[in-house]
Amino acid sequence: MTSSAKNPFLREAVLIDGAWVGADSGATIAVTDPATGDTLGTIPDVGAAETGRAIAAADAAFPGWSSLLAAERAEKLLTMANHIRANADALAALLTSEQGKPLKEAKGEVMIAAAYVQWFAEEARRVYGEVISSPWKGRKILVTREPVGVVGAITPWNFPFSMIARKLGAALAAGCTIVVKPSEFTPYCGLAWGVLAEMAGIPNGVVNVLTGDAKAIGGALTSSPLVKKITFTGSTRVGKILIEQSAATVKRLSMELGGNAPFIVFDDADLDRAVEGALAAKYRNSGQTCVCTNRFFVQAGIYDAFAEKLAARAAAMKVGNGFDDGVEQGPLINAAAVEKVERHVADALGKGARLLTGGARHALGGTFFAPTVIADVKPGMLVMTDETFGPLSALVRFETEAEAIASANATEFGLAAYLYTKDLARAFRVTDALQFGMVGVNEGIITTEVAPFGGVKESGMGREGSLHGLDDYLNMKYISLGGL
Ligand code: ADP
Repeated sequence: MTSSAKNPFLREAVLIDGAWVGADSGATIAVTDPATGDTLGTIPDVGAAETGRAIAAADAAFPGWSSLLAAERAEKLLTMANHIRANADALAALLTSEQGKPLKEAKGEVMIAAAYVQWFAEEARRVYGEVISSPWKGRKILVTREPVGVVGAITPWNFPFSMIARKLGAALAAGCTIVVKPSEFTPYCGLAWGVLAEMAGIPNGVVNVLTGDAKAIGGALTSSPLVKKITFTGSTRVGKILIEQSAATVKRLSMELGGNAPFIVFDDADLDRAVEGALAAKYRNSGQTCVCTNRFFVQAGIYDAFAEKLAARAAAMKVGNGFDDGVEQGPLINAAAVEKVERHVADALGKGARLLTGGARHALGGTFFAPTVIADVKPGMLVMTDETFGPLSALVRFETEAEAIASANATEFGLAAYLYTKDLARAFRVTDALQFGMVGVNEGIITTEVAPFGGVKESGMGREGSLHGLDDYLNMKYISLGGL
């Protein structure tokens, strides 16, 4: 399927209480294909009023959904996971058309989304309580776990399909109902979850999907006393706004925010493995992932060899439309994203960094950018403190382990970190010292539904996936049962 063919999952309406509707005002927003600039269609530009109705629908659906047996909710989620897998090609095509990533990566994202939904379906049946030894005679101390209630989910454009899987899968498994607001750049992947909810027979109002005015929808979700939890993936800037707005009603929060991932290569690393890991951790999704490497710290003894090999591999990457065969890097999401990469490159080169490959927009034009590697990067350059979110590898030379650890931790972010070494003792030492929520040791790709994904410091709070993934959607209730 090409980007121009009509996709069965493409919906130009929002889903509120089981009905596909437009904005009250009739206003729409155009959605474009970042590879071609073509308009794919429109979406409703909804605001606070429609959001209020979606929240009311989710609130009304909550008693019914939460009182189903866990096995009944699990059954619906398994059906949903099966529909995702059965329609993976169409969903991947929808993803590539609005987001730009190579079709193979899009398919991978769709499959991991299915894996998340299946995981949470399975976990739904493993929500346990506790019985605690009582300090009093004639009493029992019980702890139960209950769904938090209506969840507001706001998601980004870089993984427009799988980010919703982690939130919607966990919420529904726990017994919560949800109002989802996908990014305005990639709304069709969000609306597709409405279609999937219908296909899986999930009752009206349990899943609602809105598109439009981010501030108005976010404001309505955070200010409503009916919404008990906000789960957000996106920038730290917006995350802080949502945390602040949620304070008035003291909501539960899950925040998966920005990163500034270090990738440390020690002299004793397997060079080829480190380069492969670097390519995956940097250029996947054109460098637009929150766990993408932003700063490479390479020890002096391996620095030149690593730089040369990485630059050669980056220069050979095939850039193009994600639908074309063999393409390894698609366009960036929009012009602002390209300008940010340009700004980081110009700042670094202006302050003495050395260009090894790329450094400019790709000959294809539009929002395509050449895979870039710069060396001799130093503190004080923009790329050291600010997440580039683009295909720019910035290499910093270091001498000692202590220096690498200090430099890696010198950021307010703490999402993912990577290190390459063959020395087991060093691997443990450095892992312990890194202030990050996730560490890849000799691995550049670490995301899986079975492990807890999330950050520390200003990268956020809460964990998605793993046996802990449901905790964020459950409240504990302590029952002191006396008179026994
Ligand atoms: P990114 O840098 O990945 O685009 P953003 O944080 O800007 O991250 O966007 C992530 C999500 O947050 C998107 O769905 C976007 O529409 C939404 N968003 C942006 N600003 C606000 C806001 N003020 N209130 C609520 N949601 C917002």
